[in-house]
Amino acid sequence: MSRYLFEPAAPVSVEIAGVDARFPVNRVFCVGRNYAAHVREMGFDPEREEPCYFTKAALCITPSGSEIPYPPATSNYHHEIELVVAIGTEGFELSVDEALSVVYGYACGLDMTRRDLQVASRQSKGPWDIGKDFEHSAVISPIRAAEEIGHPVGGRIRLSVNGELRQDSDIAKLIWSVPEIIAHLSRFYRLEPGDLIYTGTPDGVGPVGPGDSITGSVEGVGEIALAIRD
Ligand code: MN
Repeated sequence: MSRYLFEPAAPVSVEIAGVDARFPVNRVFCVGRNYAAHVREMGFDPEREEPCYFTKAALCITPSGSEIPYPPATSNYHHEIELVVAIGTEGFELSVDEALSVVYGYACGLDMTRRDLQVASRQSKGPWDIGKDFEHSAVISPIRAAEEIGHPVGGRIRLSVNGELRQDSDIAKLIWSVPEIIAHLSRFYRLEPGDLIYTGTPDGVGPVGPGDSITGSVEGVGEIALAIRD
């Protein structure tokens, strides 16, 4: 029996709607620039941009319904509503046709972003970590099993701040579809059960501040809420 110098962190896990067991989180992958209108609002040309990936530590995972502190070192803290894919079985070098076979289910997520730090990193051609990978930055709703809801290919994706609609699009507008993302990502990584993939956000991203309340939904998948402490 090993002894630890200090108590290791509890495993990170996500509630599964209607299921007793929880979904243990392995890795958190995120896709950047995956809706054309959002690529344009960020100042890029969607016709010429390859998809880009970044990762977040599992400890960034925060359940829907949480109230979190405003993060340090930013004055431009942004919401990004996203469809999240939960991987349930191993997959490596998958074809697009095989890709959905590794999906356990789907959730609604918020890729919370320190936009000022992300943009500064991008301009200096450095990694995005301090803009993307920080405490409470990967908010997630309960996961819904694909067995129950199927594999969504369309449906409204919406986010409001204090009841005012800010993001309103459709997951049918993903530049890279869910099976295409899984197939592409599986060329670079051996996907494992517990991996989550945040698939990218539509246009309408913007800042939130202390005291703000975020609500969002992906049609057929779920709803999400987050409050920023005053
Ligand atoms: Mn994002």
